[in-house]
Amino acid sequence: MTVFAGGRVVTDQGLVESGWVEVEGELIVDRGIGEPHKPVDFDLHGRALIPGFVDQHCHGGGGNTFITTDAAEAFRAAELHLRHGTTSIMASLVTGTREALTEQIRTLTPLVDQDVLLGIHLEGPWLSTLHCGAHDSALLRAPDGAEVGELLAVGGGRIKMVTIAPELPGSIQAIHQILRAGAVVAIGHTDANYEQAKLAIEAGATVATHLSNAMRPLHHRDPGAIGALMEDPRVTVELIADGVHVHPAVLRLVHNEAGTARVALITDAMGAAGAPDGRYLLGQLEVDVVDGTARLVEGGAIAGSTLTLDWAMRYVVLEGGVSLDQVVQMLSTNPARMMGLDDRGVIAPGKRADLLVLGPRLEVESVMRRGDWVHGPGI
Ligand SMILES: [Zn+2]
Repeated sequence: MTVFAGGRVVTDQGLVESGWVEVEGELIVDRGIGEPHKPVDFDLHGRALIPGFVDQHCHGGGGNTFITTDAAEAFRAAELHLRHGTTSIMASLVTGTREALTEQIRTLTPLVDQDVLLGIHLEGPWLSTLHCGAHDSALLRAPDGAEVGELLAVGGGRIKMVTIAPELPGSIQAIHQILRAGAVVAIGHTDANYEQAKLAIEAGATVATHLSNAMRPLHHRDPGAIGALMEDPRVTVELIADGVHVHPAVLRLVHNEAGTARVALITDAMGAAGAPDGRYLLGQLEVDVVDGTARLVEGGAIAGSTLTLDWAMRYVVLEGGVSLDQVVQMLSTNPARMMGLDDRGVIAPGKRADLLVLGPRLEVESVMRRGDWVHGPGI
């Protein structure tokens, strides 16, 4: 048993200036305000205690990528983000051949079963060539029912999210297939107009893959997917809050329009997250990272980020003027809820003891995952 007390705690009841949390085994069993009734094992000394981050869109980190046939490499990528506070992480693949994706899904499957990963995200290959970003445009294709079914079957329930461009022929049928397989449908890398995006949302799409990046821009007579996704209360919008992918004014605008409960902060990180500048691979494409910004060697498009979610938290609090309890919702509560993970994402009785102790500058000092210290002086 561990009893935390003497610090700011973000619980299901909001931000408490002086709160306590009791952990028993893998779970949080209680929380409250003021002095706990039991002896305190962990004095927070005024520091903050928040739930672990849930990153629903990530390709790698620490020089390692999830787009691999080496399970040990994927494990190391998850470990890098865990040290930065991400206690639940999705492994996002990128566009590839059917054979390559099959091999990658098979590699990641055991890591999902071991709870290293919360699931697999197929970001591609059913995306728009007009907004391919760092996807190999030669391999992009319309969703063919047989291929969609085959890849979902290889995942055997571990594919938890699929990003699709809804203007492609066959996309509505594919959305139904993906939902039947128990995965969430995201709209992204798309040239869809407003009506096409609305149809996809009506068909059951509930996520905007990095809203505004790799989408037809919002125009006052042609609001496109951005307009449809922002205005629909059923949609959770992903944002890459690294100061590069989205201007801070747009971040504030989306937050104000969609509201805190509908924003999920993601990393969309590639292998270079938490690693030095240099040349990296994103799928088959070469990327140069200079001063932490990743761009394709060919053409110079912004590729994935080099973000970790602790950095995003500091950025959004400092640049976005967002409060700590709001940023916790966007980093933990919302992505967990959107993925249907009702066992985590908030400090409340019965939830997983995935906890972060933050230092005075919101740095992640200690990480607890399922009741075990995995990083920092808490160990
Ligand atoms: Zn991505």
